Amino acid sequence: MIVTRFPPSPTGHAHIGSYRTAIFNYLFSKQNKGKFLLRIEDTDKARSKQEYQDGIIESIKWLGLEYDGFSIQTENMPAHKAAMQKLVDEGKAYISKEEAKDGSGAIKEIVRFKNPNKPVTFKDLILGEVTDNTTDLGDFVIGRNIEDPLYHLAVVVDDMNSEVTHVIRGVDHISNTTRQILLIEALGGRVPTYAHIPMVLGDDKQKLSKRKGALSVLEYKKRGYLPAAILNAATFMGFNPGGEKEIYTLDELIEVFDITKVQKGGAVFNQVKLDWFNTEHMKLLSEAEYLNQAKAFIPEEIKSKILDTVVDKILLANRDRISYFGQLTDVFADTYMYETPAVDTSLLIVPEKMRKEKMVTIESTKIILTDLLGLLERAGDADFTSIETVKNIVWEYAETQGRGIVLWPLRIALTGKEKSIDPFSMMWILNRDEVVKRLKNAIATLV
Ligand code: GLU
Repeated sequence: MIVTRFPPSPTGHAHIGSYRTAIFNYLFSKQNKGKFLLRIEDTDKARSKQEYQDGIIESIKWLGLEYDGFSIQTENMPAHKAAMQKLVDEGKAYISKEEAKDGSGAIKEIVRFKNPNKPVTFKDLILGEVTDNTTDLGDFVIGRNIEDPLYHLAVVVDDMNSEVTHVIRGVDHISNTTRQILLIEALGGRVPTYAHIPMVLGDDKQKLSKRKGALSVLEYKKRGYLPAAILNAATFMGFNPGGEKEIYTLDELIEVFDITKVQKGGAVFNQVKLDWFNTEHMKLLSEAEYLNQAKAFIPEEIKSKILDTVVDKILLANRDRISYFGQLTDVFADTYMYETPAVDTSLLIVPEKMRKEKMVTIESTKIILTDLLGLLERAGDADFTSIETVKNIVWEYAETQGRGIVLWPLRIALTGKEKSIDPFSMMWILNRDEVVKRLKNAIATLV
């Protein structure tokens, strides 16, 4: 049975690059019908915080990376100590009396591993054969004292006890690998298969960091990104199944992921690309799923002011205008969506570059809006059932008079804004009575 693990240290809110490690481990275990374990590596007591641990669990759950086992490293301390004692008992490690480095002159009993001083070779699924002469490590320290085992020993013991078969982690850990292999061999364990994945870099090809715009997974959750998009985008940082297709669901990723095809060189994180992935995954939502999720992002004080049916229409008409749900805050900040706007007369006059050499005056604008008002007053309820049918009410008129000449003042009359949603969507959202009211208001300003 294949067993992988994700062992983050709860010392900060990890960014999307760290979770890519979790995703690769998850995909690899699931495609092999294996197990995926989550282990919180809290041995650095000074920097580990409960808040970060909670954040890791929430992120993993939100991403849908269900784990088959959970542990907290410091709770396994007795096993780490027993392993250290075993190494000492078997003469593979020893207690060394050394002067403390704090200048106090005190003598400490440090535990050192007896380095067999041999080259260690392992076959990495991504990097191929890696050999390291471990001699320069010397007799490295494995415990601050016989009661206090250090990190490398803890990792090795935990991996052995949970029967981890594959260690998939960032290439920044590669220098730890040979030392960990020496410890596993000394403890009589089975050396797992390793896959060291490339680091995730920012656009500037430097190591990704929060300062460079990489957000924590929980921040993406808060902003209304879809977990499916984060999973897809993160997997594509360093892996590509080939071909044209780029949008994959989690199940599809499990199917196509191939650890041996992960690239060796640094992978690049790009926020624009992530937004694109999110836009594409939003398109996969059914109308009901979209509406349901979107509603959580409308400020309560605004939602309570608008009829539910109108809320739904605003959400549907703006579906193509947002790449993540958090942008709905901007949509609803445009109060014209649900409140009659004040219209600035000068805005109603078509800007020169859009006139196509036609004469546009206050008078001609008034005639156009009055004609439109007539068409809309005569329209029936059935004409307001969809954006398409609403468009049909005015389309022929717009074609004969000139689209820009007609649609510009119509849109301004409805929204009051130089930049806004298109007039057809707006008419559908508002329905006839409100459209008529807004047109009349606009006409009244044209004197
Ligand atoms: N706790 C380590 C980290 O957060 C991971 C160690 C490992 O994968 O072996 O980077």
